[in-house]
Amino acid sequence: MKVLRVLFFCLVSVCIAGCAQAQRRSESVEAGPRYIAVTFDDGPDREVTPQLLDLLRRYNARATFFPMASKIAGNEPVLVRMVAERHVIGNHTLSHRRLSTLNDIEIASELDGASEILRPIAGQAPRVFRPPYASLDDRVAQAARERGMAIILWSMYPEQLAFLSNSASIGNRIVADARDGDIIFMHDTSPRTVEAMEIALRGLTAKGFIFVTVPELLSRASGMQAGVTYERVSENNERAK
Ligand SMILES: [Zn+2]
Repeated sequence: MKVLRVLFFCLVSVCIAGCAQAQRRSESVEAGPRYIAVTFDDGPDREVTPQLLDLLRRYNARATFFPMASKIAGNEPVLVRMVAERHVIGNHTLSHRRLSTLNDIEIASELDGASEILRPIAGQAPRVFRPPYASLDDRVAQAARERGMAIILWSMYPEQLAFLSNSASIGNRIVADARDGDIIFMHDTSPRTVEAMEIALRGLTAKGFIFVTVPELLSRASGMQAGVTYERVSENNERAK
């Protein structure tokens, strides 16, 4: 009986040691780099967007921009700078309408119109597309697929209820809530965005986050496919549906 008790004690000790080791291993994995993609819609703004680019450069951070086609004329140098500094520019349609309310020909011209403006600036057609108002249906997804573009939504919208928020509360919300693989939805249309991003970049860099473009973020999981909608890289590192 005594021998059995000793054997049982040994077994329990081995289990506890094993569990502790496994936990240490998982902690060290979690402490590794974490990746996040910030996206900025509806710019470029002549004042705000260059300030944001200065800030991103200071933190060696990359981002993805979905500009309003109507704001590009006259602001081409800002987009040229984005490309030179290895940010990604995506298609956000020609006139920012709700695509699911349009017919197939109108959807095609919204997508093609924006890509035609962006192609000479970026040197290639956009590979990512964000539908205004997240207005999507099967026809829109098919049109994106035919044009080689993945559909990018988001997993985090820190400006939500923005009328209740100042830049500090938006920035602090990002720092507190960001998870590995998140796609964050912001707008480069207000100075508040620059102030909030300064807090987010400082706080998340200290927590070990690396700011990458959306294609880079998705390439760390299962890659990016045309016509597929992505909101984030999912917990198990598989493609988000
Ligand atoms: Zn928009």
